[in-house]
Amino acid sequence: MNPSPISKLSLEGRVFYVKRDDLIDPFLAGNKYRKLYTLLKTPSNKLNKIISYGGTQSNAMLAIAAMCKSKSWEFEYYTKPLSQTQKIHPYGNYYHSINLGMRHIEIDEVLYKDYIASLSFMIDASTFIVDQGGAVEEAKKGLEVLAEEIKAENLELRSLATPSGTGTTALFLALSLPEFKVYTTPCVGDVKYLKEQMQALSEIPKNLIILEPSKKHHFAKPYPEFLQIYKKVLASGIEFDLLYSPGMWEALLAQTDEEILYIHSGGVSGNESMLKKYEQKGFR
Ligand SMILES: *Cc1c(COP(=O)(O)O)cnc(C)c1O
Repeated sequence: MNPSPISKLSLEGRVFYVKRDDLIDPFLAGNKYRKLYTLLKTPSNKLNKIISYGGTQSNAMLAIAAMCKSKSWEFEYYTKPLSQTQKIHPYGNYYHSINLGMRHIEIDEVLYKDYIASLSFMIDASTFIVDQGGAVEEAKKGLEVLAEEIKAENLELRSLATPSGTGTTALFLALSLPEFKVYTTPCVGDVKYLKEQMQALSEIPKNLIILEPSKKHHFAKPYPEFLQIYKKVLASGIEFDLLYSPGMWEALLAQTDEEILYIHSGGVSGNESMLKKYEQKGFR
């Protein structure tokens, strides 16, 4: 794999640089590519099945489905029951994952938690479980590769940014690049939740800066201000995802003023279903 390219973006009179991890693959891109790196480098014959679980529109699900297809591994994905309408929608991450060969298994709401916890006792050596969102220690290696690509660019700027769900990406990036400031912001839960998630993996380094969101947003809920930012950035030439990137852009524009390299975290494939949600709400 060649290093992903870097593009320039003008926004509100400022110049940003963007590490185009969104261009790696239509389905297996962004930080999910980085987080699955170790598995991607695993020889096909070492495993025959991947198991994971979580949301039915998740970017991680789609990335794993694409990886399993390319590796000829089976992919079993466990979720809570899905609405009938979602199952028949011919778009979005769920639709693409099923087309890539994912076997979807619905678990009753009341049994879900225990069932997921029991998965690790039911598998053999040829099966690997990817925890929700891919928040695994294995992610570290993939983010070290990203860090090497960034170092090799010999950039003058000294600040990076990438949005957080579990915080795995931002944390491992900051740990691998102590000479850079790494900005992030919580897109799932608040700052306190994000810090707890990160601290479960490692001590939070000083060069990792968590920007406070302007207001509380619920994950995956449509907000007119998020759609506005998405459109503004899109108009300057690059499409970003609608779930994580709007909060990151909002925080960067309001709370920073230096030159920044934004690490595109992918997720653009999920925009189709998210834009439908915005439409249904009458936001344009
Ligand atoms: C998964 C995801 C994130 C969050 O990554 P974490 O490592 O969990 O913080 C950010 N952006 C996009 C587009 C994602 O799909």
